[in-house]
Amino acid sequence: MMRQPYEVPMAGLPERVTIYEVGPRDGLQNESAVVPVEVKAEFLARLAAAGLTTIEATSFVHPTWVPQLADAGELLSLMTPMPGVRYPVLVPNERGLDRALEHGVSEIAVFGSATETFARRNLNRSVAGSIEMFAPVVERALAAEVKVRAYLSMCFGDPWEGPTPIGRVVDVGEQLLGLGCHELSIGDTIGVGTPGHVTALLDAFAARGIGPGRLAVHFHDTYGQALVNTLAALRAGVTVVDASAGGIGGCPYAESATGNLATEDLVWMLHGLGVETGVDLESLVRTSVWLSEKLGRPSPSRVVQALS
Ligand code: MG
Repeated sequence: MMRQPYEVPMAGLPERVTIYEVGPRDGLQNESAVVPVEVKAEFLARLAAAGLTTIEATSFVHPTWVPQLADAGELLSLMTPMPGVRYPVLVPNERGLDRALEHGVSEIAVFGSATETFARRNLNRSVAGSIEMFAPVVERALAAEVKVRAYLSMCFGDPWEGPTPIGRVVDVGEQLLGLGCHELSIGDTIGVGTPGHVTALLDAFAARGIGPGRLAVHFHDTYGQALVNTLAALRAGVTVVDASAGGIGGCPYAESATGNLATEDLVWMLHGLGVETGVDLESLVRTSVWLSEKLGRPSPSRVVQALS
């Protein structure tokens, strides 16, 4: 059994990619099993030990919406941060920001939508109304020297509205960055994007003066397109890629066990391409196997399955 890929570099790619690990937040919030806070703290520690340097730890969304992450405050008190590792948390509104600041968080993320239907369903607001809601969150965070990332969901298509117009995605993304967010994570929430679409969208951002240095990508593997879409983004100059250890999280908008791009699958491709990540693949796979036992279902990651 191959334990690591053959390294054969490809021209036109970055030397190094930062993996933005979303398993503890985006992964666990979309799993039906609720894991104890001690397991979450150990998960964070194992991810950092495996070499991940940006790990979204949890969310300060209201517990009635996301009961899986109701222990956000307790987790931040319990966890042991590893020096040099960033632990952003998701913050939906000013109340969430208050809670994050109480726990001394140094980075947050807000979560917007490119489509009106998803904004209504997920945020109970219009797209414009949600930007208005985020404005004071970002302003107050920056005043407290807290960095803010913006997620933008449904950037390729949406289950209710069909394909998302590229100009629309760029308009909303530009507004989120205009609030003062340092990075925009372009999300394919239902996993319908294909590489030409990714390239066209990134080109449209560049034409608006928003280069790949301010963008991250967040692909879902629902239709098996996450890695090829990632490669298209790397060729366009993107160097921050979101992924979830073990591929946990499913797809909340489709009856599929496969949602978030698995970090192990991403690492296998990047190391094969000779792109540095700093991640120890074997250590990460052991972590995902350990977590899958806690979740009571096998990891959907192909690489985890192949190596375990
Ligand atoms: Mg996701």
